[in-house]
Amino acid sequence: MASLLRLSPPTLLSTSRPCSSPAKPPFPHLPTKKNPPRKNLQRVQSSSFSTFLDLEPKSKPESLDFEIPFFNPADRHRFDVIVIGAGPAGLRLAEQVAGHGIKVCCLDPSPLSMWPNNYGVWVDEFESLGLDDCLDKTWPMTCVHINDNKTKYLDRAYGRVNRKDLKLKLLSDCATNGVKFHKAKVWKVDHDEFVSSISCDDGTELKADLIVDASGFSSKFVEYDKPRNQGYQIAHGILAEVDRHPFDLDKMLLMDWRDSHLGNEPSLRPHNSKFPTFLYAMPFDSNLVFLEETSLVSRPMLSYTEIKKRMVARLRHLGIKVRAVIEDEKCVIPMGGPLPRIPQNVMAIGGNSGIVHPSTGYTVAQTMALAPFLAETIAECLGSTRMIRGTPLYHKAWNGLWPLERRCSREYYNFGMETLLKLDLNGTRRFFDAFFELKPHYWHGFLSSRLSVGELFMMGISLFGHASTTSKLDMVRKCPAPMARMMGNMALEAI
Ligand SMILES: Cc1cc2nc3c(=O)[nH]c(=O)nc-3n(C[C@H](O)[C@H](O)[C@H](O)COP(=O)(O)OP(=O)(O)OC[C@H]3O[C@@H](n4cnc5c(N)ncnc54)[C@H](O)[C@@H]3O)c2cc1C
Repeated sequence: MASLLRLSPPTLLSTSRPCSSPAKPPFPHLPTKKNPPRKNLQRVQSSSFSTFLDLEPKSKPESLDFEIPFFNPADRHRFDVIVIGAGPAGLRLAEQVAGHGIKVCCLDPSPLSMWPNNYGVWVDEFESLGLDDCLDKTWPMTCVHINDNKTKYLDRAYGRVNRKDLKLKLLSDCATNGVKFHKAKVWKVDHDEFVSSISCDDGTELKADLIVDASGFSSKFVEYDKPRNQGYQIAHGILAEVDRHPFDLDKMLLMDWRDSHLGNEPSLRPHNSKFPTFLYAMPFDSNLVFLEETSLVSRPMLSYTEIKKRMVARLRHLGIKVRAVIEDEKCVIPMGGPLPRIPQNVMAIGGNSGIVHPSTGYTVAQTMALAPFLAETIAECLGSTRMIRGTPLYHKAWNGLWPLERRCSREYYNFGMETLLKLDLNGTRRFFDAFFELKPHYWHGFLSSRLSVGELFMMGISLFGHASTTSKLDMVRKCPAPMARMMGNMALEAI
């Protein structure tokens, strides 16, 4: 049994285990001087803890110093595959497809910009993909505060993705495999029977056998034939220099569901009890920590202002005084809902393709894992024989990414999201109390989207077995409708 349960409150100020030393400093670009800029210093000194919301992030958007091969307009404007977007999904797919000898062009208005989001992954996920050298910090354990009296210590290592290293690695693999880049925004996609074309904001027009949209959540090229009815994860995150913090340096805090901080903000408590948020924290050292107040999933989306207010109250209660904000992020992740129409003329990968885990919002590791499979399917169609194009190509590509088994598993993860949407704070606590008692195979597999449909049903039974009586009642009362929908959708998929 890999997860340990301690019923006593954690020794928050102690660091009982040696911290896992990062392979490289997590933020080599940070100045070592401790003093924040004068403007920020004045603000911090003249007001209370809550002013961290007013602090200007110190870091500025960075551009990578890397030579990428650009598409030469004098060359033929025809490729085998065009990838829209140079986010994690687009670059991973581009380098994988090009690795099969296929001509790929990747377009992005700013292909060398640093990705803005902070990505966290389970270390085993990145290890199995050979990407663990792209983690700038790992924690050997994670922990979950269920409430003030119960904390679970989970024997699963967590890592923070080094965005710069991952992007440089993918760009370098793209360059090695012959991917061409074009710096532009795609406006329009058109299709003929066997060829598609794109028009860009700089007037460029390119053609390809297959267009893959990897433009993220704001994609406008992928179509749906069912109402989307998504849930939303929304969070406010800061990478902050702090005077001190109470977190163990060898543990990543996956979820803190405690609400004692709302004792000082009673007006926030009723809504939090109904629509709870938790703290996610990555302690890098005793003065540097990434903190994110997160609504796991809500529909309609919880107010961002309220999330920030809760975060202010929580940090104040934890005695965390923010000296400087190095980075901040507004995280909005659409989750669940139906898959895009399968098939359709534009293929998709990443945030707009249904890969986002409907119950957790995790996407990056799964995208890195699935892109090679999609690339292989594309290569089977567009490889040296080049026999399969048009509708059969779209059909194969979409079904390669979403075979029946994976679509049914996703229905189960959607069911997970629909269940979470129905739980209040206490119900959520009871749920995770039982969830992290599951065998690691189940909870690891669930969070990493790698359980088969059969395993997911077994996991559900086991979860029910581990649940408290109240939690069982919750499930019996709240799950039948989402479960019936899931079964119906699975049956429709199978037809
Ligand atoms: C703040 C935040 C934090 C997150 N944290 C995590 C996490 O910790 N772990 C995790 O697994 N997932 C996380 N996610 C979810 C998900 O992994 C990310 O959203 C991830 O960035 C999705 O990758 P992507 O490549 O699909 O899209 P994006 O990263 O959004 O990249 C899309 C790219 O397409 C480009 N583009 C957009 N439109 C066009 C166009 N018309 N033409 C050309 N290019 C275009 C954009 O410039 C961008 O470079 C997070 C999401 C957010 C928003």
